[in-house]
Amino acid sequence: MKKVAIIGAGPAGIEAASILANQQVEVLLFEKSLNTLSNMLDKAYLFPDFSPANDLVDKLNKKLLHQQITLFTGTEITDVKKDGKEWKVIDAKGMSYIVSAVLLTSGYSVFDAKRKEELGYGIYNGVITSIDLEKMIKYNQIENSMGDKPKRIVFLQCVGSRDEKSGNNYCSKICCVTAVKQAIEVKKLLPDTDVYIFYMDLRMWGQSFEEMYRESQEKYDVSYVRGRISEAASTFDKKIQIKAEDTLLGVPLKMTTDLLVLMVGMEASCGTKTLAETLHIKGEYGFAKSLNCHLQDNETTQQGLFIAGSCKRPMGINETLADARSASVIIMDYINAMQENDK
Ligand SMILES: Cc1cc2nc3c(=O)[nH]c(=O)nc-3n(C[C@H](O)[C@H](O)[C@H](O)COP(=O)(O)OP(=O)(O)OC[C@H]3O[C@@H](n4cnc5c(N)ncnc54)[C@H](O)[C@@H]3O)c2cc1C
Ligand code: SF4
Repeated sequence: MKKVAIIGAGPAGIEAASILANQQVEVLLFEKSLNTLSNMLDKAYLFPDFSPANDLVDKLNKKLLHQQITLFTGTEITDVKKDGKEWKVIDAKGMSYIVSAVLLTSGYSVFDAKRKEELGYGIYNGVITSIDLEKMIKYNQIENSMGDKPKRIVFLQCVGSRDEKSGNNYCSKICCVTAVKQAIEVKKLLPDTDVYIFYMDLRMWGQSFEEMYRESQEKYDVSYVRGRISEAASTFDKKIQIKAEDTLLGVPLKMTTDLLVLMVGMEASCGTKTLAETLHIKGEYGFAKSLNCHLQDNETTQQGLFIAGSCKRPMGINETLADARSASVIIMDYINAMQENDK
């Protein structure tokens, strides 16, 4: 039997499904949301090339139109068990599916900004997250709490990442470049709005990220302040007042802004945490753990159980797709070896 179950129809799950299907593997692809690519739907433009997120969504969804792929949307996988040489995948309604191998691509969710009460998310309308801003950009509706065009927007990096208090000591990797990308998008839509980014370090690790950072300053006049915001509160006229420290100048500062954007980090999704725990492959912070981060980064301690994408650690789409392709090669090897042994 050449049948693989893939849990999660995000970029990783779809890319792997398409590659395996092209190799004549029967793929059962499970997605708990009613739509595939649930984490992509509210995105406007993607770093690093500012391509419309919808284009990628359409291209990935087209890959699913393959006779070897059966897509189950609105189907949450709640349990996975080894069944002799095979695997049994069980959904929330108790339906079970027998397959030769399982690929976990259950992805990430974003840090709940309400956990940083001092920053006022969920309390003041002028405090929003990067996800909220992404939607505003997508629908060209960037407004302050009074429904007016904001005169000033302040971004705060590392919300729920690199933060002992939140229990997340790791860097989420994608939020620095997302802030730079969003700041440029804001300036394209609202050239007269002042934009400030408060950061600890700017991690411009990817190809053309550094150039984007330079361009944000030279062409779009985005200002960068090295420092952390310790507190946000509402003013009488419904603006947001922030208390911060400029750590380069070594001075405390106060500033008012129309919008404070919290750059929320990536955490293991609920599905990732639960399934990684059940399958005994839980790594740090609830992400799924591979056997070896250099040579066996798609394999796990369980034979026939593979992992790919942001269920392992924070990563952008390019890395996610490349990881899904690498998992597909390893899964093909595994299935072919199983068939040889059965002869
Ligand atoms: C604010 C923000 C902006 C970003 N912008 C960019 C960008 O511009 N460019 C870029 O390259 N990257 C960007 N990213 C990162 C990008 O979103 C991720 O790289 C990508 O979504 C990871 O894909 P994935 O398939 O690993 O996981 P996900 O996209 O999280 O997909 C996992 C899927 O699994 C499903 N699932 C979970 N549990 C179960 C279960 N038990 N049963 C069935 N289904 C399940 C989920 O519903 C989800 O659809 C951004 C991230 C954030 C937070
Ligand atoms: S990518 Fe940037 S904003 Fe995100 S956690 Fe790392 S340093 Fe902080």
